[in-house]
Amino acid sequence: MRLLLHDSFGRPLLNLRIAVTQRCNYQCTYCHREGEDAVNCVSNCAEMSVEEIVRIAKVAVDLGVTRVKLTGGEPLMRKDICQIVAGISSIFGLKDLSLTTNGSMLLGIAKDLYAAGLNRINISLATLNAQTYSRLTLGNNLDEVLAGIEVAVKAGFSPVKLNMVILKGINEQDIPNMIAYTEKLGAILQLIELDPINVSKAYYNQHHCDLKNQEDKLRQEAIIIKQRQFMHNRSIYELSNTTVEVVHPIENTDFCMHCTRLRLTSNGKLKQCLMQNDKLTDILTPIRQGISNKELEQLFIQANQQREPYNKPSDKSIYNLNSRKN
Ligand code: SAM
Repeated sequence: MRLLLHDSFGRPLLNLRIAVTQRCNYQCTYCHREGEDAVNCVSNCAEMSVEEIVRIAKVAVDLGVTRVKLTGGEPLMRKDICQIVAGISSIFGLKDLSLTTNGSMLLGIAKDLYAAGLNRINISLATLNAQTYSRLTLGNNLDEVLAGIEVAVKAGFSPVKLNMVILKGINEQDIPNMIAYTEKLGAILQLIELDPINVSKAYYNQHHCDLKNQEDKLRQEAIIIKQRQFMHNRSIYELSNTTVEVVHPIENTDFCMHCTRLRLTSNGKLKQCLMQNDKLTDILTPIRQGISNKELEQLFIQANQQREPYNKPSDKSIYNLNSRKN
């Protein structure tokens, strides 16, 4: 029987975010690298094999996880990404498998990913301005990404989400264009607040934008506003012809209290939070030493017990997500 784990703050464990590699063909100026250290592991890091990733995902699903996200580095750098997708998508009990990519290699692989069982895809796109795009990604070409996005839409991913990290002084003014583009595609736009991880303090101070003004505007324009209770209570603004979701983690206790996620680093460590690197649970070494699935479950249970909200409310009476209504 499948369990449902909760941490000591009453938050269920429903999501696993797996970094399948730390390698990336881009070097975006704002990238948090999923909170992993700046190790250059292009050739010699201990990436997990397809079998290891699928086994870990299966154990997570047996413990109640229903949603898996593949990330990186750039997940499409892995030649075996379709095998990873096929293996995870066939796990009984999994409801949602998605992947986030910079989109630069999507053109050639979108259809295969879809055929392998990927439901949804997120594509990082901070701007539609070619010059700004090149500046943010250190010289990459916007056109190949736009071509990849079109192919992803045609391949049938539902939804395609465009991940737009908002950077003060760089791309705030591009939001209306991005909304129009998203509408034309039939996609969803995700406005993401800049996290202060793996970027310099100076960069963060200069470019962090708290998204309040954007949310105020969206609230006025929206026909319906929803909350994703089990995904950080993120707000979803349904506009007349498109949908905009806002990811607003900074100093946001509500975001953290509705976090239902564990992360798996590219070298096989369970990580409680993007912002925290102090309580990593290495599961890859024990796996390679031959532990059983029961022992692996125990490591998950331990890691889950150590999860705690990065921003905690002072009122402890709200520490039980399950007792709250949708
Ligand atoms: N290479 C893939 C990509 O570009 O989507 C996956 C890795 S990237 C680290 C995963 C997501 O994190 C992307 O949607 C990206 O926009 C977002 N992201 C990167 N750096 C960020 C930051 N400093 N703050 C908030 N989101 C960030």
